[in-house]
Amino acid sequence: MVYQASSTRYAEMKYNRTGKSGLKLPAISLGMWHNFGGLDYHENGRVMLLRSFDLGITHFDLANNYGPPPGSAEELMGRVLKSDLEAYRDEIIISTKAGYHMWEGPYGEWGSKKYLVSSLDQSLKRMGLDYVDIFYSHRPDPNTPFEETMAALDLIVRQGKALYVGLSNYSAEQTKEAASILKELGTPLLIHQPSYSMMNRWIEEGLQDVLDDFGAGSIAFCPLAQGLLTNKYLNGIPADSRAGGKSQFLKEKDITEEKLNQIIQLNELANARGQSLAQMSLAWVLRGERVTSALIGASRVSQIEENVAALKNLEFTQDELATIEKILK
Ligand code: NDP
Repeated sequence: MVYQASSTRYAEMKYNRTGKSGLKLPAISLGMWHNFGGLDYHENGRVMLLRSFDLGITHFDLANNYGPPPGSAEELMGRVLKSDLEAYRDEIIISTKAGYHMWEGPYGEWGSKKYLVSSLDQSLKRMGLDYVDIFYSHRPDPNTPFEETMAALDLIVRQGKALYVGLSNYSAEQTKEAASILKELGTPLLIHQPSYSMMNRWIEEGLQDVLDDFGAGSIAFCPLAQGLLTNKYLNGIPADSRAGGKSQFLKEKDITEEKLNQIIQLNELANARGQSLAQMSLAWVLRGERVTSALIGASRVSQIEENVAALKNLEFTQDELATIEKILK
């Protein structure tokens, strides 16, 4: 059946301006790192993408290496664009990245112009697109001058292969240097994509101030700490969870007693607010409007629905914030 987007898709979502740019992003965006690759069931990925779009999620985040195998998440995006979302391309923000290992030899990773330009060409082919909306340097390269990496980002925009550029995993200092170069080149830094959640607060120590100085936005990845900040691990490790599966990135040993203790207390507070822990965790990332968008992952549609409903209560009392600080101490 031909997909028809919901006519109410813009009714509930909140859209935030990305820094001082003209681009608005949904407060909740969907990432395709896990559960959209070749090993996962294609139809589930498709259904999650379409339900997201119906809920007002206009931004889908990819990278060249998302899968596994690497490249397969972009292939899935390409298939769904073709089968269902083609008519809506101008309502969608697609990002991709290059930085991590993609192919053999000296030009298959890091931050050279050679790698970034050819990787984006490959990504565009996989997705069947003429351009992406945002292209990121996925990680800083200690052996390539930032001048070269930023010149590659600038070139890509001038070639029309990306509309905006972003940085991911750059420290506050590295961001300052890179954003200054981009400014000089005339392609301003749109956005930074750092990890950020109640359990990982490094961006509060300087990066957020640098982004404010440059008028750049931010999109927080792993806002649910890969699922820890939900009610899923309260009673053990479900077999169909990320920690219970084959992910290299979240393992049983990561769910320590100390963390579990915090999760139990945070869950009680969330319930007292009339929210699930996932919803409170997303509201917390978005508090004070310093973060443009919370970049969630999902393994099923019900999670996306629950997470978007977080927007019904983004306010915290001073007491609630103080309680969270106490629990996290
Ligand atoms: P999250 O912290 O949002 O974790 C998502 C996982 O949490 C889901 O796959 C699911 O796991 C579980 N979950 C989500 N919602 C719920 C819910 N309501 N109830 C219970 N469990 C829930 O983010 P990710 O770690 O998935 O990362 C999100 C995105 O960030 C990536 O797709 C990618 O786009 C980006 N990213 C960027 C990086 C970078 O270097 N720039 C690095 C990492 C991520 P389960 O499978 O157990 O159901």
